[in-house]
Amino acid sequence: MSTIEVAGVAIDTRHYINGSRVESAETYVNTSPIDGSFLGDIARGGQREVDLAVAAAKAAFPGWAAMGPKSRGEKLLRLAELVEENVDVLANVETLDNGSLLRSHLRGVMPRVALNIRFFAEWAINELHHEPFETRGHTNVISWDPSGVAALITPWNAPLMLATWKIGPALAAGDTVVLKPAEWTPLTASLFADLTKQAGIPDGVFNVVFGYGAEAGAPLTAHPDVNRISFTGSVPTAKIIARAAADNLTPVSFELGGKSPLLVFADADLDLAATLAVEQYDNAGQVCLSGTRILVHESVADEFAEKFAAKAALIKQGDPRDPDTDIGPQIHQVHFDRIAGFVERAKAEGQNIVMGGGPNEELGGLYFRPTLVRNPTPGAEIVTHEIFGPVLNMQTFTSDEQALEMANGTEFGLAAVVVSGDRDHAERITKFLVAGTIWVNCFFVRDLRAPFGGSKKSGIGRDGGTWSFDFYADVKNTVFAPNGWKDK
Ligand code: NAD
Repeated sequence: MSTIEVAGVAIDTRHYINGSRVESAETYVNTSPIDGSFLGDIARGGQREVDLAVAAAKAAFPGWAAMGPKSRGEKLLRLAELVEENVDVLANVETLDNGSLLRSHLRGVMPRVALNIRFFAEWAINELHHEPFETRGHTNVISWDPSGVAALITPWNAPLMLATWKIGPALAAGDTVVLKPAEWTPLTASLFADLTKQAGIPDGVFNVVFGYGAEAGAPLTAHPDVNRISFTGSVPTAKIIARAAADNLTPVSFELGGKSPLLVFADADLDLAATLAVEQYDNAGQVCLSGTRILVHESVADEFAEKFAAKAALIKQGDPRDPDTDIGPQIHQVHFDRIAGFVERAKAEGQNIVMGGGPNEELGGLYFRPTLVRNPTPGAEIVTHEIFGPVLNMQTFTSDEQALEMANGTEFGLAAVVVSGDRDHAERITKFLVAGTIWVNCFFVRDLRAPFGGSKKSGIGRDGGTWSFDFYADVKNTVFAPNGWKDK
């Protein structure tokens, strides 16, 4: 069967290549994390499908590139409208496929998908400009030229949102695209492919190959006709992709993992600090940016812990389609077991687990209780490794110097949250934190004009505004001499 019905919506489970649906000899089973129910058999791509998709994208590139930002923009703005018209459908399907909250898909995530497309289309038309400047009478003119075929590889925790963060600027820059979505969450990518067709995006400009990372992702990243690789996922996969990209010297953009600190200073509003800390359980902890290491000044640690416990006790875990639910399931049994493994090993080490610490037996399935480890041993696995689940730890510090040393003491540098009631103090701290994004007395405020990315092992490159185009485009400087011109 090439079409399945999910949340009352017909979804094609075949690849989308050159404007048509393409089958594979093999399929894989896709299930819902909500209750383990079968959603469908999905095409399982490999070298053959990747070759077809890259060839289609390469053939479509000259035409798409030649259209220029305005004509491309018209189609992309139509695509954004179509996403807006289909928010309901996309939200319901995404929730069944990845288990994140329906209410946030409806209100935040899917409207954001439309914004990702619209924002970058408009940026290419209106903002992608550098004032020419003179060098000894010569004029430097800077342009952002389309670069070719962009391979986009994305994770499962915010499938369509993170994919369109790449698709938007890549298509707006004039590149053509081959998307390989995460194997656990393929469905909204298929619906999105249908919308690109409806929007009049020419065949071959946008392609989707489904399948496993090692089978479909690997040949895509090693393909000599791919001109850009943009990847969001884990550090170990990024290392494999970097090696594949090295052979062709293909430029890479990496958005990777984190183990971000949430710092609570003695001068902080502790109610606000506790609210922000509890928010780190959002999406069942499956958020790269989560401040999973809560670092609290010793003098306020007990008071903070009390407030945290009171707020965390109110978290309602359950079916993500229920509007009262705060936290849904983990994505997949494999990931659930990985999280449980971290917690079991922490228990075996004698770490102090003061909340949660295992599956939610009432709900069964893939629901893991929000967990807090207090005062873990410095250097313990639970402190250093990204768990990507609802597991936080809390440590104390006694000085700003110690807070900074602890905050910066990991291989990651994706984000940080600072809670302080003193602006000068907060500014001093942020200056020395190593992170791509720092939130002061807030969390998750994101503007597409701002740079986004990770320091250290949390990534390579920045997305947002012109930073996205610096990656997807070939940035060119043309120098015009003042002389050598013939009179017309
Ligand atoms: P993952 O690295 O396992 O997989 C991500 C994607 O890579 C999937 O599509 C997968 O199929 C593909 N892949 C796997 N092996 C591959 C290979 N050999 N060649 C090419 N592609 C391959 O990551 P995940 O478990 O899906 O996602 C969780 C990770 O993503 C976490 O580390 C999280 O922090 C990170 N993440 C980062 C951001 C960010 O913006 N920094 C956002 C979301 C998630």
